[in-house]
Amino acid sequence: MSECHPILFVGAGPGDPELITVKGLKALRRAEVVVHAGSLVNPALLSECPAGCEIHDSAPLTLQQTHTLLVAGARAGKRVVRLHTGDPALYGAIQEQMELLDAEGLDYRVVPGVTAAFAAAAALKQELTLPEISQTLVLSRAAGRTPVPEAEKLSRLAANGGTLCLYLSVGMMDKVVAALLAGGVFTARTPAAVVYRASWPDEKIVSGTLADITGKVAEAGIRRQALILVGEALGARERGVEKKSKLYDAQFAHGYRTPKGGEGRKAKG
Ligand code: SAH
Repeated sequence: MSECHPILFVGAGPGDPELITVKGLKALRRAEVVVHAGSLVNPALLSECPAGCEIHDSAPLTLQQTHTLLVAGARAGKRVVRLHTGDPALYGAIQEQMELLDAEGLDYRVVPGVTAAFAAAAALKQELTLPEISQTLVLSRAAGRTPVPEAEKLSRLAANGGTLCLYLSVGMMDKVVAALLAGGVFTARTPAAVVYRASWPDEKIVSGTLADITGKVAEAGIRRQALILVGEALGARERGVEKKSKLYDAQFAHGYRTPKGGEGRKAKG
């Protein structure tokens, strides 16, 4: 039997073909079989594959069918890439694929990617963690056909405040907003934004508050392929409540800098 190359699960990034990693792009440029996750993988990336590369869209396939393609390619000694949108570890259904490969005794690696949350933050030109406003980012989703464990339901997550970034949920705006308000920390005035197809040429940004975001999203006709971001950090710039970070504070010492004009406090980390 020919030597098997490890199957590579590669994060394609959020859409802009330049947002794949260098490692991911190199893998595509050498690939002999690519199985990609349909509509959210930019076709421009597939044009990076060499001539003769077998390309399969996994959207109409079952888990067993994609598995069969990966195994057949790897066993034939081919370089196989399983291309997922964003980062493969988030809502990528890679675990079940890896378990099947384990059962076959086939080797695989994961090449991370830029997840949609960070493309959305970039589109908004927004830091998601601001001193004294939010130091926590929660990546989650509303329960849909895929259930969410009770302890992670949105109203409970919202009770912690911070910045929330919700995948796969824009089709349920009413339910999402009601759950976020039920947490008791966010209010109708809490800033919210929806970013549709972040980093794609047809990207759309809708900004508002929990009071009006649902109406604005409906008006913009956004029903899928979008992220919902919520939290005080989003409105801090407009409201002028942004606190400066300690990291670049002239009076603040850390491992790489002593403070201006004498002894400053030493940063912990
Ligand atoms: N693994 C992907 C997420 C796959 S789940 C990642 O890391 O980004 C698919 C959901 O991700 C979509 O329903 C949408 O909520 C979100 N998504 C993916 N790409 C997006 C983009 N470019 N802009 C906005 N949301 C996106």
